[in-house]
Amino acid sequence: MKILMMKKKFLKLICPRCRLSQITFGKASTWLKCENCNKLLIKPTGGKAKIKAKIEKII
Ligand SMILES: [Zn+2]
Repeated sequence: MKILMMKKKFLKLICPRCRLSQITFGKASTWLKCENCNKLLIKPTGGKAKIKAKIEKII
């Protein structure tokens, strides 16, 4: 069995409003807004990030 290193995980998010895709860290601790339409995509809530966008891919 292979042990995967999951330390550096990137998420590919799709903005639900304008469908622009953006790449961000899985452990987001900062606010992330869509570059295009300014919609809030990630909201950090006490250690856990609340992701409001659609996750298309985990890289
Ligand atoms: Zn957008």
